[in-house]
Amino acid sequence: MVRDRCLVIPFGLSTINETVRMSNERAAYEMKLNGYSGAQADAVVSVVSFNRAARLKRGLVALAAAWAIAVVCVFIPVAHFFLVPGFLALGAYFFYSRWVTRTKVTEANGTCPDCGSQQAFDIGGNWNPPHRVACNECQRSLVLEFADSNA
Ligand SMILES: [Zn+2]
Repeated sequence: MVRDRCLVIPFGLSTINETVRMSNERAAYEMKLNGYSGAQADAVVSVVSFNRAARLKRGLVALAAAWAIAVVCVFIPVAHFFLVPGFLALGAYFFYSRWVTRTKVTEANGTCPDCGSQQAFDIGGNWNPPHRVACNECQRSLVLEFADSNA
């Protein structure tokens, strides 16, 4: 469903590690920004999709980093009572968070329909439009959705 609306698939193919690189699929989508006043403006969102192996690798890297910090924290007196379990739990959360993230936004650019400001939006986490963002200039709430969803 999402791939039907794909504009561009810029993907650098190489003979080295081609199977590893094929695990991440990049795409750009033409979107609409709906403003507070009902006006619309254009936006372009670039995303990267992760297959099962890529999600597992990303999750394990985050888990290993958090648990390595937990091991270092064992040697900090008194603070280790909350730092060690904290980083162990944080590692599990990071693993879960990266495991369920199938598509992530790498770049989102658009014009605010209310104030006309051209800007890059900060969108983290799993990509599942429609997505609510805030204008960096006028601070109004905007809804980012596929260009043909109102047609
Ligand atoms: Zn604005």
